[in-house]
Amino acid sequence: MIYTKIMENDGFIVIEGIHKNPNNINTLDEQTKIIHGPYNKKEAEKVAKGLIQKNIDNFYHRAWVINKDIELNNICEECKKEDESVKQNLIMHSYKICSSCNLAKTIFPI
Ligand SMILES: [Zn+2]
Repeated sequence: MIYTKIMENDGFIVIEGIHKNPNNINTLDEQTKIIHGPYNKKEAEKVAKGLIQKNIDNFYHRAWVINKDIELNNICEECKKEDESVKQNLIMHSYKICSSCNLAKTIFPI
């Protein structure tokens, strides 16, 4: 099984907004969502850093650098199902995989 690994030269976008839980991109309030980019990875990280610094007093504000393809779908590469956790796992582990597949993989490594 080949997973989508984040590449340096891919198109990256920065998503900023207000979150219920600033550690979870899935809790982003769609009303406050602003998308910047696409950029290359370095530019995207710079933009995200600037946005985070600008909103440093707002605990619920968060900016994320993500591969632009991920914004298009939440499809797990393992089970091909759409799942909210795919985006979160991609950010955290660089794998486009849902939490149940990720768990199965952790328990039964290939
Ligand atoms: Zn899955």
